[in-house]
Amino acid sequence: MRGEILSIGTELLLGEIVDTNAAWLATRLAELGVDCHWISQVGDNPGRIAQLLELGWRRSELIVASGGLGPTGDDVTREAVAAFLGEELEVDPAELERQRAVRRRLGLPPSNERQAGRIPSARFLANPVGTAPGWWVERDGRLLVLLPGVPREMRAMWESEVAPRLAGRSGAVLLRRRLKLAGIGESLVAERLSDLARAANPTVATYAKATGVEVRIAVKGPAAEASERLRETEAEVRRRLAPYVWGVDDETPEEVAAARLAAAPGPLALGEAGTRGRLAAALAPLLPEERLQAVEIRPAPADAPEAEIRRMAGEVRQRAPGARLLLVALAREAREARAPLGELAAVALLEPEEAALSQEAIRRVRPLSTGGPEQGAVLAALDWVRRRLPAP
Ligand code: ATP
Repeated sequence: MRGEILSIGTELLLGEIVDTNAAWLATRLAELGVDCHWISQVGDNPGRIAQLLELGWRRSELIVASGGLGPTGDDVTREAVAAFLGEELEVDPAELERQRAVRRRLGLPPSNERQAGRIPSARFLANPVGTAPGWWVERDGRLLVLLPGVPREMRAMWESEVAPRLAGRSGAVLLRRRLKLAGIGESLVAERLSDLARAANPTVATYAKATGVEVRIAVKGPAAEASERLRETEAEVRRRLAPYVWGVDDETPEEVAAARLAAAPGPLALGEAGTRGRLAAALAPLLPEERLQAVEIRPAPADAPEAEIRRMAGEVRQRAPGARLLLVALAREAREARAPLGELAAVALLEPEEAALSQEAIRRVRPLSTGGPEQGAVLAALDWVRRRLPAP
């Protein structure tokens, strides 16, 4: 099914608001397997709205519009659609009574009748979180959906009223999976996946994100077939990049690390330097209070990083004697000529019985250039936890 999105509101054209509705709807359409070929914006002007409807009528089977359904005179979407389709806009008495009842219950002043207006080919779409109903219009083999502009209302109406009705129609779904990687650069990932990246369905693409490289797999097709192909492709990508994959979709590095720390023998004592406490700040909300003891480390003269990490570990161990795990992270400007320019992070995670901090317990990393040493050390420490502790 071919579709398009129409965002209605003069505020959009004046640059006063950003069209987040269109971006959100575009994602939803893709998930339902609708090919979205156009996104347009237009002001609250009936003539210009009609021009876009006319275009949409010629080129798309589905038009999803948001905005301009409010009670005031500058909300003209309903009138524009009625005029474009040549249908009479009439107040629906049942809808008017329903709105009056809702407004009485909420203690709102009675609205005028505009929001209860409907053309014969429109069905109302209930607004679960507001008062203005949407419209579902089917005519000439086209489908037009009108949604409120307020993002919260638009989304709620989409989820409860529109998506379920559309799901069965497009005949295809788009399934996506994002694999999140750490410790490997984008170009190396792209090289390992180059044959997969040339395919059209599923598509495999790599992106550099603040938390590392992301591999996005997207498959389109009938639901069962698409999910099978997604599973196969994901397995293949994991086979090639297994040690670097730390999470999927919306998972964050701190969630992954915290899940392991919560299952490990605790508590954890944490010392960090050069990171402005960001490691403790990332983990604290995700761990029970008694499982994390953050130790403030005084900055020391710039020794070699390994020596500094050892010193920090000693201090943490001394000040948190009950801890079963120690995590130490250091971020600072690199001094040595061979280190990458200005960036250095070293982390260690060990159990207190380990008398000395072995070389292998210390990891020196080259932080991501986007975040600098501070973010690099935090991410490296979280990734180090993931590698050293088993998944729960
Ligand atoms: P209401 O019933 O609340 O009047 P409406 O359908 O008339 O809703 P608009 O008046 O067009 O909606 O917009 C209401 C508010 O919703 C805008 O001021 C803006 O904050 C937000 N909004 C509208 N359109 C968009 C959009 N495309 N993207 C993001 N926000 C939007």
